[in-house]
Amino acid sequence: KEITAEDIKKSVEDNDVRFLRLAFTDINGTLKAVEVPKSQLDKVLTNDIRFDGSSIDGFVRLEESDMVLYPDFSTWSVLPWTDNRGGKVGRLICSVHKTNGEPFAGDPRNNLKRVIGEMKELGFSEFDIGFEAEFHLFKLGEDGNWTTEFPDQASYFDMTSDDEGARCRREIVETLEDMGFEVEAAHHEVGDGQQEIDFKFDDALTTADRVQTFKMVVREVARKHGLFATFMAKPIEGQAGNGMHTNMSLFKDGKNAFYDKDGEFHLSKTALTFLNGILEHARAITAIGNPTVNSYKRLIPGFEAPVYISWASKNRSPLVRIPAANEVGTRLEMRSADPTANPYLLLAACLTAGLQGIKEGKMPMDPVTSNVFEMSEEERAEKGIKPLPSTLHNAIKAFKQDELIQRALGEHLTQSFIDSKELEWSQYTQSVSEWERNKYMNY
Ligand code: GLN
Ligand code: MG
Ligand code: MG
Ligand code: MG
Repeated sequence: KEITAEDIKKSVEDNDVRFLRLAFTDINGTLKAVEVPKSQLDKVLTNDIRFDGSSIDGFVRLEESDMVLYPDFSTWSVLPWTDNRGGKVGRLICSVHKTNGEPFAGDPRNNLKRVIGEMKELGFSEFDIGFEAEFHLFKLGEDGNWTTEFPDQASYFDMTSDDEGARCRREIVETLEDMGFEVEAAHHEVGDGQQEIDFKFDDALTTADRVQTFKMVVREVARKHGLFATFMAKPIEGQAGNGMHTNMSLFKDGKNAFYDKDGEFHLSKTALTFLNGILEHARAITAIGNPTVNSYKRLIPGFEAPVYISWASKNRSPLVRIPAANEVGTRLEMRSADPTANPYLLLAACLTAGLQGIKEGKMPMDPVTSNVFEMSEEERAEKGIKPLPSTLHNAIKAFKQDELIQRALGEHLTQSFIDSKELEWSQYTQSVSEWERNKYMNY
């Protein structure tokens, strides 16, 4: 059932909501918010809350710094925490518009909506996404800042652990359920202090919104437990990094268009050609799915993260895996992205690449049946298996060479993304690390 302005007004009264948080996402995937007291509710509900966008990363365009927030009523949620005086905070995810009412092209959420519109023109009804966002929990120091001390010594799927990490994970799950999430799985991951919580797949926009809420909840609940949650791709050298496996399917006429009962691995031609689009644009997609310097320290052999552009049904080393599933669940699992990705940009890029694959109608390379890491370089070359970019620098170069993926972001976001990432890379190249001193001090 659709949520109306009246429903929100009633919910504000029923739940003693005293503040309204209007959230949106910047180019880096960071959740931003304008918070107003309840007295402003009518303005909120009639798209009349303005803010100055010039201090938001990726928004700056001198000529258009005044922005207006258009809340998406379907995202209404009463946050399960109270303010200083016991009142609640209500949250709405918004699209950013210009003062003339047009959607602002620099808003990643607007851009995803645009790309979803292109998909609908091709006759598909829904791009369905399930994310598996992994994260680490560390102890908070006495100063309230993060440390790199683990709250537990548990390991993958450890059942016996009843430490602070496990208690925190359970409270995250309960909080998400209170907020209407359907949590399907929650477990300790391979790394020390590493966790995974999965919620049910849904259409791309809803899932992108939810993963933003998810990260906020994880951080907030962790603090309550004296812990610090990080979604950084590789927080600890020599240990598993944090992935955000991206499970994708397309629906048409109420059916999963990726499913074909007679196809190999039950995949339809639509699924296979979509997959080919992903593989062909994988290097540029990596810039968006793995957007930090640190992301590339995860994409190395030995930690269940992909390094090469290939696909398979069982094997977990390739970029795309086909999980065993029933008809509705038939999907492609892209394993490269990490949770520092901006989910709106990531899904716009994946959808655009996949749709292009469908339009071109080319079948993908053969699936790999053995471990790509164990093949010789010649074997990989023979099979046409190329590597993912090895650094942020190489990924940006691939992005700058891929016109399709740039179109997936549109001109404004493409430029902001390149500006922001080139600056980040240049800062990194100027930094001198502990590793360098240890290695070269005695040279
Ligand atoms: N942590 C692994 C990664 O970096 C994934 C592990 C898993 O879920 N099988 O992607
Ligand atoms: Mg998983
Ligand atoms: Mg996992
Ligand atoms: Mg997975």
